[in-house]
Amino acid sequence: MVMAGAPREKHVGVSGPNLWPAADAAVMQRWKPKLKTLEFDPMGIDEDDLLNLALEIFLEIGVHEGLGIETEKIKRFLLGVRDRMLENPFHNWAHVFDVTQTCYALVLLSKGREILTDMQLFGLMIATLCHDLEHPGVNNQFLVKSKSSLATLYNNESILEKHHAFRAFELMLHPGIDLLSAFSKDQYDAFRQLVMSLILATDMARHNEYVVNLKNHAKGEGVQGLDPLFYMEILLKCADISDALKPFDVTKKWTLRITDEFFLQGDMERASGMDVSCMCDRTSQSRVAVQKGMIDYIVRPFCLLLAEVIPAFQEAFGQIALNRSSWDTYDDAVLLEEVGKKDTGLTKARTPLRVVTWNIAAVNNNPFEYWVTHGQTSQSEGYAKLMTDVQMLIDNPETRDFKVGEVVTDDMIQELVVSMTEHGCSGVDKLVDVWRAEYKERYAIGYS
Ligand SMILES: [Zn+2]
Repeated sequence: MVMAGAPREKHVGVSGPNLWPAADAAVMQRWKPKLKTLEFDPMGIDEDDLLNLALEIFLEIGVHEGLGIETEKIKRFLLGVRDRMLENPFHNWAHVFDVTQTCYALVLLSKGREILTDMQLFGLMIATLCHDLEHPGVNNQFLVKSKSSLATLYNNESILEKHHAFRAFELMLHPGIDLLSAFSKDQYDAFRQLVMSLILATDMARHNEYVVNLKNHAKGEGVQGLDPLFYMEILLKCADISDALKPFDVTKKWTLRITDEFFLQGDMERASGMDVSCMCDRTSQSRVAVQKGMIDYIVRPFCLLLAEVIPAFQEAFGQIALNRSSWDTYDDAVLLEEVGKKDTGLTKARTPLRVVTWNIAAVNNNPFEYWVTHGQTSQSEGYAKLMTDVQMLIDNPETRDFKVGEVVTDDMIQELVVSMTEHGCSGVDKLVDVWRAEYKERYAIGYS
């Protein structure tokens, strides 16, 4: 069964070498040399080929086997990450691949490999892959405004980032992957702390903290003067907002994708009677203006500071100024004409409102979604009914709504609580409370 907008068919737990896609020799030959550069363009590359290119990064770094992690496990983990990325216009598998590849290139460019242990470098790559795991295509403010259960679970703080980190460890610890089984308790604890810190650093609400910290470093200090954790955090943050430092043809495509996602959020805000966020309003906002604003207020100031502290970045970051002046010659009509027709990924990613709504329902209705994505272990009656009803809803959206409580049983919730507790998730008691008070009465997809 394939559900629109939901994670793809699961490989986790049943994965074997046969599920790993064969590498396309021509694609690998063309793109492998670019993995070390800031000129990579993952849009338009087949998703399976991106899996092989992601694996290539781990093979080039070459630390996992020394840490006791077989390449086979890396493959299963990568399949799991890919399968858990929803089909959003921007926050999808191509984006997390891009951030991982960019971060790898930034480590090489800054010659920072020598200040990191093998474990730290491996943790940085895992964190970049997982930093947006299962992103619903809306931002933290939307989750707060819509009084989402996820916002309740995480007390409105770094909601998405905590969700990504939770999913990351759930995936690493999945019995079908067991990525970290070779680690001692101390190694595991340190690794978990590292990956969580890195993912939480991507919350843009904390951006200013990092700007202030960078200002406290001396010009020309270079990587040697930096605390390794801070170095990794600023690299991941830079990679996460790196669209504007790519060649202009690449940055144009990212711009269209991210503004598509913003505008879909705006559509949902409007449909739900909320105030429409400024950057998300397709009736009044220009895509080019949104991108210029991101460069002027976020990307350029941050990257200028970064390149002052790590001068090795100066030449590459010169692209930002070139892109900024190129944007002055553009308007939305030209951008759509040039890119909208060529970016085939975008056609697929132009997600209907219903699918985006589904994504949010999936992530918000955590217990419900848990059984959609992990129910293979359960043969319970409730799970079978859930699958049938969800499929019916997708085939025939207007036929019938159903309440979550009709298909997710208290036994299933009990199993979920045990699993979340085992995975060290905080706030489990709150989840049970909201389950009792709220989830049961919710509709699987929120209708007005
Ligand atoms: Zn991201």
